[in-house]
Amino acid sequence: MQVNPDGRLIRKLKEPLQISLLGKEELATDTFVYRFELPDIQKTLGHSTCQYLEFEAEILNRETKQKEKFMRYYHPMSKVIDAGYVDLLIKIYLRNFKHPTGGLFSQYIDQMTEGSTLKITGIGGDIEYLGHSNFLIRNKETQQMEKKRFKNVGMIAGGSGITPMFQYDIILDEDLTEYEKIGKLYYFPIVQAPDENWQLGSGKITSGMIESFMPPKSNNYQQSLNLLSRQR
Ligand SMILES: Cc1cc2nc3c(=O)[nH]c(=O)nc-3n(C[C@H](O)[C@H](O)[C@H](O)COP(=O)(O)OP(=O)(O)OC[C@H]3O[C@@H](n4cnc5c(N)ncnc54)[C@H](O)[C@@H]3O)c2cc1C
Repeated sequence: MQVNPDGRLIRKLKEPLQISLLGKEELATDTFVYRFELPDIQKTLGHSTCQYLEFEAEILNRETKQKEKFMRYYHPMSKVIDAGYVDLLIKIYLRNFKHPTGGLFSQYIDQMTEGSTLKITGIGGDIEYLGHSNFLIRNKETQQMEKKRFKNVGMIAGGSGITPMFQYDIILDEDLTEYEKIGKLYYFPIVQAPDENWQLGSGKITSGMIESFMPPKSNNYQQSLNLLSRQR
């Protein structure tokens, strides 16, 4: 593992992994799940739950009119045990009046055609979930990953920030409801601009909501871990 110029802990792959686009599923007008095939369809990616991937692509820089290498990070949405493919949930930063060029990398991915390839160059993350309430968490001073065990885990995920949370062994709404039924999870969706039929949370997340729904602060460090993940 090494800390890269973005301050991220990354394990660079010896050889970049070439993945090829199989297809995409629309979740919203600007948000899609892209399925990519791994080079060996028998094998898994080899990442841990909550880790993200570093991607690289050569994209035309509109200012210099030259192709340049750009890197971005995405959390796989597929599970660590899924062999042969990886799913990425990506919000595409489309061009609009405020952002006339939109997002470089997300638009590049959106314009990829089936069969075209993208490179995974590294795997990283400050948190890894090992199962059975055990986590590896990066100590910011030593940069070492330290093992911790927590009794309660609270997660606040906004927009595409839901992707690392998905990996925490949860898949979409139906599964969340199943977990809730067996008392393993309390799930509270908050929609910013709901229609009149919506009966759950609305607007922005407030400190009152956090106090009501998240595991309480505890003097015992081992009790609660609260995680926050949001889009920029
Ligand atoms: C660890 C990590 C994990 C991540 N995981 C995911 C993930 O799983 N899924 C995911 O979708 N993203 C994820 N991201 C974000 C992702 O890496 C990119 O930053 C994102 O796709 C934007 O890249 P871009 O090149 O398209 O935009 P850039 O070209 O970098 O755009 C720069 C900025 O311009 C602004 N902008 C441009 N167009 C618009 C617009 N239409 N509306 C609003 N703002 C705009 C935004 O602020 C944008 O960030 C992750 C980031 C990190 C650091």
